Amino acid sequence: MYVLDMGRGSTSQRMMPIIIPRLEDPASASVDQRDEHLMLLEAARHHLDIEWTETLAAAEDAGDHDVMGYPSTVAYLKHRMRMAGGRAHRYVKNARAALKHAATFAAWRLRQISGDEAELMFRAAERMPDKYPEAENVLLELVGDGVDETRKVLDYWRSDVDYPGVKLDLEDQLDRRHFDVSRRSNGMIAGEFELPQLEGEGLLTAVDVLMPPPAEGDTRTTTQRRADALGDLARSFLEGAETPIVGGERPHMSLHVDVPGLRGEAGGLHETEDGFVMDPFAVSQLACDASVTRIVFGPDSEVLDVGRKTRVIPAGLRRAVVARDRHCVAPGCGRSAKWCDVHHIVSWAEGGETVIDNLCLLCRYHHSQVHLGLLSLDDLEVRPLAGAARGRSP
Ligand SMILES: [Zn+2]
Ligand SMILES: [Zn+2]
Repeated sequence: MYVLDMGRGSTSQRMMPIIIPRLEDPASASVDQRDEHLMLLEAARHHLDIEWTETLAAAEDAGDHDVMGYPSTVAYLKHRMRMAGGRAHRYVKNARAALKHAATFAAWRLRQISGDEAELMFRAAERMPDKYPEAENVLLELVGDGVDETRKVLDYWRSDVDYPGVKLDLEDQLDRRHFDVSRRSNGMIAGEFELPQLEGEGLLTAVDVLMPPPAEGDTRTTTQRRADALGDLARSFLEGAETPIVGGERPHMSLHVDVPGLRGEAGGLHETEDGFVMDPFAVSQLACDASVTRIVFGPDSEVLDVGRKTRVIPAGLRRAVVARDRHCVAPGCGRSAKWCDVHHIVSWAEGGETVIDNLCLLCRYHHSQVHLGLLSLDDLEVRPLAGAARGRSP
């Protein structure tokens, strides 16, 4: 049994002692018992937080750390209580703010606002020490409906009373904008970025548009789907009419490959224009649909002599595949043709022909799955052909 004596009378309302019967075996208790117990513990924690803050504020105000030989209250907490610096700083800031902003602290003590909401109020008070006292009571009437709502109220208030500060913040955001990218040794491209609000929201909107709700059985995580959407964004730009024309054509990623490279055989050539080795799975996938990527063959390539007229999918044939499949043919996918590659069912490097019977639409994600062998062609809903398109050769 826990007994927390909350009887100390330093506050305007005397707190009641809280007696919490111990939950002997939480694992075998019922949902209701655990819920009730957590509610009780949370109430006890509230009382402890309040009393902790009051006591720490008094210690800070009286300079106890000095008497005890610590340079600051933060140092006292770090060394005497073995507290992490960040937490010690937060506690001290809250204690000082509680002394200064009595109405906010009282609202916290009376549970009109939560501890997290009180912290947001204290941070706002620190930022605008001149404006906060006159606004404190009005703000307290507006907050208390959750942390998000409180943050919103405070943001609105700040943009009303501190226009220069908001402008400075924006300038600071602008200074901090950056987009770092690097090529990892495994071929992945890694990056880290910070964008000012307007550009960032624009990016999120664009990525959201390219992130349809997951199909049934789609095992990708949200961040994986977002990464795929970012890839689609780059692709739609490179293929789009808005893309600037450089050297007579729209910029496309170029690959240098030869036939062994295309087949994933040892000694084959498969690299980007800049000389970075590209993995053979990605190469075979890109080779499927050369409208996606311009592929430059190596000097000894026999590609044009292997008896097949073309590897590139002509516009008419692509339209026929789109008319037949309409969307990605992976079960349940439905990603529209605009976002699909044309896949060679028997790969071009293995002798598969560029004819409609051997082609189908796959979205980027499912196209990778097929080339990695994670999705079998037997699972694909390739539609039977109708009429004129059958057997038409490029
Ligand atoms: Zn393919
Ligand atoms: Zn798909």
